[in-house]
This record gives sequence, structure tokens and C-alpha cells, in this order.
Amino acid sequence: MGRIWYNIWRFFAAGAIQRQDSLTNENAMTLGASGLRRSLCSEVNPVSERNYSSYSSQDESRPRSRSSSGRRSSEPRRSKKRGKRSPGRTALWVIGTILLVAVTTGAIMCCFAAVYIRNNILPLAQMDMNDFTLNENSIMYYQDDSGQYQELGQVLSDTSSEWVDFEEIPQDLKDAAVAIEDRRFYTHHGVDWWRTAQAVVSMFTGGDIQGGSTITQQLIKNLTNENDVTVKRKVTEIFRAMYVDETYGKDTVLLYYLNIIPLGAGCEGVGAAAEKYFGKSVSELSLAECASLIGITNNPSQYGPYSLARVANSEGEMWTAVQWNKYRQELILHEMLDQGYITQEEHDQAVAEELHFVGVNAGETEDDSTKTGEIYSWYEEAVISDVWEALKEEYDYSDQVVSLMLSKGGLRIYTCIDPDVQAQAEAIYEDESNLNYHSSSGQRLQSAITIIDNETGDVAAIVGRIGEKELNRGFNLATDAQRQPGSSIKPLTVYAPAVDMGLISPITVIPDYPYQVLGGSAWPVNVDGRYRGQVTVNAAVEDSFNTVAVRVLADLVTPAKGFEYGTQRFHLPLISEQTISGQTVSDIAIAPLSLGGLSLGVSTRDMATAFATFPNDGVYREARTFTRVEDADGNVLLDNTREEEQAIKNTTAYYMNYMLTNVVSSGGGYEARISGMTVAGKTGTTDTKDNRWFVGYTPYYTAAVWVGYETPARVQASGNPAAQMFQKVMAPIHAELSNADFTQPSGLTQVSYCLDCGGEATTACQSDPRGSRVATAYVFAEDRPSTVCTCHSLEEGSNSMVRVCVDDPVLDANGEFTGYYHLAGPNCPEVSIRTYSYLNLERESVGGAVAEDSQYFYSAYVAAAGTEQCTVHGEGGQIIDPDDPNGVEDPNADPGGSGDEPGTGDPGGDSSGSSSQPGTDDPGTPGSSSSGTTDPMGNGSEGGVAINPETGRPYGY
Ligand SMILES: [Zn+2]
Ligand SMILES: [Zn+2]
Ligand SMILES: [Zn+2]
Repeated sequence: MGRIWYNIWRFFAAGAIQRQDSLTNENAMTLGASGLRRSLCSEVNPVSERNYSSYSSQDESRPRSRSSSGRRSSEPRRSKKRGKRSPGRTALWVIGTILLVAVTTGAIMCCFAAVYIRNNILPLAQMDMNDFTLNENSIMYYQDDSGQYQELGQVLSDTSSEWVDFEEIPQDLKDAAVAIEDRRFYTHHGVDWWRTAQAVVSMFTGGDIQGGSTITQQLIKNLTNENDVTVKRKVTEIFRAMYVDETYGKDTVLLYYLNIIPLGAGCEGVGAAAEKYFGKSVSELSLAECASLIGITNNPSQYGPYSLARVANSEGEMWTAVQWNKYRQELILHEMLDQGYITQEEHDQAVAEELHFVGVNAGETEDDSTKTGEIYSWYEEAVISDVWEALKEEYDYSDQVVSLMLSKGGLRIYTCIDPDVQAQAEAIYEDESNLNYHSSSGQRLQSAITIIDNETGDVAAIVGRIGEKELNRGFNLATDAQRQPGSSIKPLTVYAPAVDMGLISPITVIPDYPYQVLGGSAWPVNVDGRYRGQVTVNAAVEDSFNTVAVRVLADLVTPAKGFEYGTQRFHLPLISEQTISGQTVSDIAIAPLSLGGLSLGVSTRDMATAFATFPNDGVYREARTFTRVEDADGNVLLDNTREEEQAIKNTTAYYMNYMLTNVVSSGGGYEARISGMTVAGKTGTTDTKDNRWFVGYTPYYTAAVWVGYETPARVQASGNPAAQMFQKVMAPIHAELSNADFTQPSGLTQVSYCLDCGGEATTACQSDPRGSRVATAYVFAEDRPSTVCTCHSLEEGSNSMVRVCVDDPVLDANGEFTGYYHLAGPNCPEVSIRTYSYLNLERESVGGAVAEDSQYFYSAYVAAAGTEQCTVHGEGGQIIDPDDPNGVEDPNADPGGSGDEPGTGDPGGDSSGSSSQPGTDDPGTPGSSSSGTTDPMGNGSEGGVAINPETGRPYGY
């Protein structure tokens, strides 16, 4: 008894029914392939009738010779293996079990009936069968400039389905279906309790349960989208079956069943299948052909005549699908004879009739969907895909139903496309010369783009590939491909979270220095292999320093929070934990979130949608491709309104806009500049250089561009081809638009801060050996420096201040100028003396890495120059030169010259203190150094090459 209760419990536990689908149909075919002398009563052989709507299992329905299975198959199959229980005990046991099942089932039904009716039956009841029987095309619309809806295009009937009315379907076809699938179809009320009970008993006694699905239940399975195999689904299905039987009646159920069953080769329903296999309309099918068609549905991959599968029969002989179809057809004909639908003569004639499958002769094996001459645009395709998913989710429809609705239901789909923007993007992408690169193995470099209209937040345009679009419903690189975003993820998972949490602002100073030793070497490295030392967050974003991103994430934001912002605020498809090819991976870690090496990746649509939050004042909007779908009568099927969420503060958005604008105007995103238009954005390159990104925006549009190979390979191109594609597409789109700024919240105040610690600037900051380290910026009140500069000092005796004599440089062993001067002595004239404030900073070594600013540390000065005073000036300030006693230098010479010549060199790389004095008083452009000018080239230059004073690198690096 314990075992029975255990089995009952197990039956009602989720997943119990799963077993049913993995059953082998071992006793189904007690007949040889040709010998249809079937003697066993099918009522005690439910297995022979059961239907598989799944196409999978390969071992089912394998015919067996009589001798191998001569027992009555109604006996519990497990008992056969045990062979212990006496027949009498078995009977008692079975009866007891049935009683238990009845009681338990009754209880369960009472408990769940109300809930199921409300949640599961009503949606199906709302299904308007006209939605897929109209034979009317569905139409997509777009909104023109005046707000009027215009036709964009029709949804193509590219699935093989052809609705046939009840009168067109031959009686033989209906009879064949009933005879093989559900012999008591006309007498039960949607559910065959006898078969259900048998199935349950079979499960209790042997751990296996049989389906016992009626045609009504199978119809529901084919109409609905519930793929989970649980008891819950089974119970739902039973309720629905009773409801549908009661509501629609037998003929309607059979009509829909025959119009929706999958019949292989892409056919849904007998209308399309009759054309596909026999080249005729369904009304012209012979009895033999009717039985052949119905024979497919049990398992199209095995019985569908065009299937390439080969499955062994009981003799071990590999049969083709055509052979299996014949076997199945004869089985059905036998059932029809047995149940009185046909006479012996009709039976014999049909068995003897040779079947002509038109496609087999034509060499056709599978549905060739490319036959249609019409090609969707990338955008139309995305619309169809989105509507498809939404219908499945909203109404719990199956793919077959959605397919029918879209191709036959006369739906009206209101899209979000901007046809002008789409045309512009397509024009650039169709011209292959715009991205003319190939990999070493000859692959064509690919690219994809998603453009969002910042006003609506919806998708304005999508292009999924370079070159002309030749396929329908092929792989769309813009929406389907998941690629690693590299650095383009930093604003979403590092900087916006850090700013939003109040941990940093653009003027916060973070060391551009390795975070840790990893695998024996300092990590991370920057793209150029350099470490600059103290830099502002603004500079780090501008030139994409990996070190700073890692430090901000690891030390301030934490990976958990970065992940939360990525997934909850920006809705990126990051992975918390998943097993991919045997390995457990997670994106909740420093490297994925700060450097963009994700487990799976993101699409251009994901990235464009997320970035569009920035120009929208921090409000996230799901980027839609359609707003509404109506049926042919104007009833709203899908109302795609969406909620808007304040994902980040508007002040955070302001800072991000500011920094990402600097990326384009003076940082690594220079190739995305559009003349006369404010452009913000971020580049991205993965370690292997397989993926190149640019995600950017203007006040009008946001676009994400991916460039890479379809089969990942290193992208070798000059510059960043993604930023170049962005520019090529976006420039013409903005040609007629006047420039605008991003929104500026109130509350900005100007601050003057130290570039080396972020503290409030003092006069000491102006005396850095490199020149002034003071910058001005506009920040919100809470981001004002909380202390004065702690790294510069001009106090006597501080670990910062030195008075040097510029006529007495410190030379190295080779006689080369080290950049330092000896301390001034009592004889040095005032004109030769400089007071410098070196940096009172220490930095713990990570893997021996040296940052470029460490030479300006006070400790570095002391180490190089020691405490020896000037030996150049003698009494009265005269220069003592043992080699050339007459060589008295002009005491007025500017020691801040640009030469490296000892005695005239400035230790800093900058030509003067004033050139690194950043910032202007324009409140629209807070931040440091190069900000405040629309022409970044206007800042310091060296040898004709524009130098970014803060990074010391040429602009546009
Ligand atoms: Zn300072
Ligand atoms: Zn400072
Ligand atoms: Zn001197």
C-alpha cells in the first residue's frame, strides 16, 4: 500500500506526466508491417491508439512480430517483468487503485476547478475561430508624419497552411482520424475516462502512464502553447476538452483538429498537406490517400513521406519514411475496416492503391520557404517575430495557431517603424562598400544596427546584415545574435550604477592602475598598454580605461549591484547562473560586468534600448516594434502599451550624457562625430577583437552598431568600423535636424577641483611640476569636493613642496636629463628658483606596474634628486661651469620650455601650466580638462598633433 500512496503522490507531483511521452510504444504494433490481422481488442490496448503530438522519440511504434509480444497488452507492463503477482491479486490491486484514483482525482478537481476555469479555459473561450479561418491577409501599418496610418506591407503566407471547410473534407479523412486516434470520439464528452483511467493505472502499477488523449485533447494541445509536461497541464487539458466539446460540438472539433495537425514538411492541417504530398485539393483525396495523411500526424519525422529519417523496423531493417507511411496507412485502413467505416473490398482496394507523393518524384524533401518572391524588410520581420511571441504569451496560443492568425486572420498590425530612417539605414547597409573587409578565411565582415527614436522610445529602424536581404525569417544579426559587448557595457553596469548610487561623479579621481595580479601579471591592462595613474572618471570613460572600470565596480559598486542595474534597470539579458556546455557560468563577476566578457552576450536591440535611457532623462522604455494589433473586426488583440520606469536618476543621466558626449568629442569615439550635432556614445571591443561595437545617441536617435564575423573571427579594420557605420547611417538621418542639447537638470554649481585627488583646488595645485592641476566643472551640490586637495601642498616641510634651481638639473648615468632639478641653495638667484608641489601620494605596487604619474610623487623626487643643493650657482648667483667659465646662461630663460635639453626642460609633458587649465564657465559642460569646448583640437598640441592634456595622448586615440 505504501507504494501506491507513493505513486499517487508522485503522479500529482509536477513532471509526472513527462514519463508518458518517453514511453516506448512496445505493444502498439503487435502486427507485422503487412499483416494487418489484428486480433487484439483495441479497448484493452490503449497504447495502439495513443497519439504523439511530439515528433521526437525514435523508438516508438516499432513493429514487432507477433511472437515477441503475444500477451494481452492490457496487463500492467511492469508485472510482466516481475512475473510475481497472481492474476487475482493483480485485479484486486488494480480495482483498489482505480478507486483511490477516483477519490483523489475528484478531490483535486474540486480544489482546482475554479482556478483552472478562470485562468485556463476562459482564454481559450475568447479565441475567435474566425481569426484564422478568414483567408484574409494581415496588414502592417506605419504612422506617417501627419500621424495617419499608412499601409507598410502584408504579412506573407509563408507557412504552408490552407484552411479547408468541413464540407470540403472527405468523410474518409474524418473517419480515418477518428478510427486511429479516438475511436469513441462521437460518444465521449471530450475526455475518454476509460482510457484516462487506464493510463493512470498503468502509471501506478509500473511507473509509466499512458496518454489516452482524445482528438479534443489533441486539438487543445495543438492550439495552446503549454509545453511543460506536468499534471497541472494534463488537468487543465481535461477541463478545456470538456469545455470545448460542450461549446463547439463534434464537427467543429474535428474540423479544427484536421486544419491544425502538424503533418510534416512544414504543413499544418490537411489542406496544405494534400497539396504538398498529393498535389491536389483535400476534397479530391482517395481513401488510400486519406489514411496516408492521417498516418503522418502520430510522428511526422518518422511517417512524413518527405522526412529523411530512417528508422529500423522489428527485423532491424532501416525503413524510409515512405515505407513507414505505408505501414501506418495500412494500420489505419485496418482500423477503419474493424470499426465498420469501410468494407473489406474498399479496404483491399485502398491497400493495393499505389501512393504518388508528388514531392518525392520532384526530389523535394523539405519545405522551401525561400520560394516566395516577396522579401520582408528587416523591420517587418522583427514586427512579425514580436507579434508572434506576444500572441503566444498573451493568449497561450501554439505556434500553429499564431501562424494561421498571421497569415489568414486579417490582422491589423500598427508598427513603430520610421520608414525614412529605415530606408536610410538600409541604403547604407545594402552598399557593401561601406564595410569592405573579409577575414583570413574569406568570411565577409558583418554588421547590424538597431535605431531607436528618442521621442517615442520605440524602434525606428533595424538592419540585420550587410548587403541585400535575400531571405525571409533568416537569422537577424540585429535582434537574434548575442555578442559580447566589450567596453560598451561599462556605462550600464559600472558608471551609471556608481553615479546613481552616489559613489562617484565625473570629477571623482580613481587610479588608472592595475587592480590585481592575475595569472602572474597585472590586471587589467588598457588597450594601449599604458597606466596613467590619477585620472578623473570623466577621463576614464572618455578613453575607456579598463583599470578604472574594474576598480569602480570591484571597490565601489560591487558586482551584485552592477548586475542588478544591468538586468533590473537596463534589462540586459545577463546570466546569474547557467550551465553552458557543461560549465557553470555567471555574469555576476568583475570581468563580465566591467569589461563586457559576458557568458552569452547582448543584441544591438538590447544595447540600443538600454542606452536610450540616457537621453530620456534616465527613464527606461522597452523599445517596441508595434503598438497594437487588431483582428479583422477591429477588436484589439494586443495592446502593447508599456510602463516607463525611472531606471536611474535624471542627474545620473545628465552626468552620463556629459561623459559620453566627451567620448565622441574628445575621446575614443571620435569616428562617430556628426557635423553640427551633439553625439554621445561608447565604443566596445572584446579581448579577441571578434566584436566591435559603437552604441551612441544624439538628442534625436539612439543606435547600437555591432560589427564582426558571423562565425567569430578577429576583426581587422582601420579604426572602429562600428563607429564608422554609426556615422554613415546617422549623419544623413540628422542632416535636416537642428542641433540640440540633452536635458540639464537644475542645481548645477561650478567647482574648482584638483585633477589628482578630486579635492577642492588650492593654490598648491597650480604649482604641480606639470603645471596647474586645477580644473573646473559643473556638478550637483552633493558632488562638490568634500575636502580641499590633499595631494598638493606648499607648506614648508610637507611631503610635497620642493624649491628647486632650474639651472641645476638632475642627470642620469648617461648624462640625460631626468626631469628633476636639485634643490635650490642659498646662492641661487630668485629667477632660477621654482617652487613645485609634488604629489603627496603613495601607491601600492601591483605586479610591478608603473603608472606614468608616479614620477611626480614627492617620494620619486626625493629618490632621484636627493637632498643635495644646487652646485651651479656660486657666490652672488654666478654660474660655475668648469668646462666653460664664460658660458653664463641667460637668467631670464623660461625653464618651462619644450626641449629636453638639460636645464631647460620642464618635467611635465605639457607645454605650460595654462594649457592644462581645463574647463570653462559654460554651465552646460561641467567636468574637466577638454570639456567646455566644442573643438577639442583647440587644446594643447604637440608637433601638429592634438594632445589631450589630461591623458597625454593624441585626441581620437
Ligand atoms: Zn591638488
Ligand atoms: Zn589633490
Ligand atoms: Zn642654483
